[in-house]
Amino acid sequence: MPTLPKFAFFQGRIVPYDEAKIGLLTHALHYGTAVFGGLRGYWNEEEGQLYIFRPRDHYKRLLNSAKILRMQVDYTVEDLIGFTKDLLRAEGHRTDVYIRPLLYLSDEVIGVRLHGLTPALAIVSVPFGTYVANDTNAHVTFSSWRRLDDNMIPPRGKISGAYVGTALVKSDAELAGFDEALVLTEDGHLSEGSAENVFIVRDGVLITPPITDNILEGITRRTIIQLAREELGLEVVERPIDRTEVFICDELFLTGTAAQVTAVTRVDHRPIGEGKMGPITAQLRELFQQVVRGKLPKYHHWLEPVYEK
Ligand code: PMP
Repeated sequence: MPTLPKFAFFQGRIVPYDEAKIGLLTHALHYGTAVFGGLRGYWNEEEGQLYIFRPRDHYKRLLNSAKILRMQVDYTVEDLIGFTKDLLRAEGHRTDVYIRPLLYLSDEVIGVRLHGLTPALAIVSVPFGTYVANDTNAHVTFSSWRRLDDNMIPPRGKISGAYVGTALVKSDAELAGFDEALVLTEDGHLSEGSAENVFIVRDGVLITPPITDNILEGITRRTIIQLAREELGLEVVERPIDRTEVFICDELFLTGTAAQVTAVTRVDHRPIGEGKMGPITAQLRELFQQVVRGKLPKYHHWLEPVYEK
């Protein structure tokens, strides 16, 4: 059994987790009318500090997702960061954590729509390690499911209902013996992993699908693009990627808050490059860990300390 959180941010305050309950008719439960975020807090043992990674970017994206669903949310990014810090301090975490904010349509009514309903905010946090168990050597498959389109359930928003698609992709991949899956757009270009952005390396150039190929605008993706350019001096190109480029690329990796930087070494039983984690992926993984744990002062502005010193 997973350990449940001790507390939740619910109805405007921190309450014991057991008291944070919603009614059966809650709109979001029936129609998927909620938006969520996924942040990480990284524990720095030497400093005795818990750092939330890029909370301003995460909460800006959450509010943008809410905007797409016509939700009227009065909280600012700074309010949301404040609530999150209060929650993490109440929990007293001294380990890596995952933080889940959820803005959901809370009305207990029948009727599918977005207007005239009331958004509510909840936040919980749980201790969290690796997400893709095999993160230096993942085996993936091309999913037979297609990525949603901006004109269906917009993937630019992190919309709860849309994650039924993710669940289909992930379960089919895992039950077929793979660690993860790559998902194509309706027109056949590489879009993402199930809940990760994707990068390939060809001849030393880092290539990733553009934000108009129905991806979630990942914050880890943005981080990796900047680190690759500034720290490794790599050329990074955002352009559509064909399926067969995956079979001939030198390296392939997935990025996400949960997956961090996950090296993919086989796709549909074909080895990527030499069939083991490549040097650019290894360097980016290392750099990313230094950044999120506060070891590189240049990127300290991405970290929000939780505990007072
Ligand atoms: N794509 C999807 C569909 C996701 O759910 C996630 C995880 N939030 C990502 C990409 C990666 O985004 P981020 O780096 O902001 O976590």
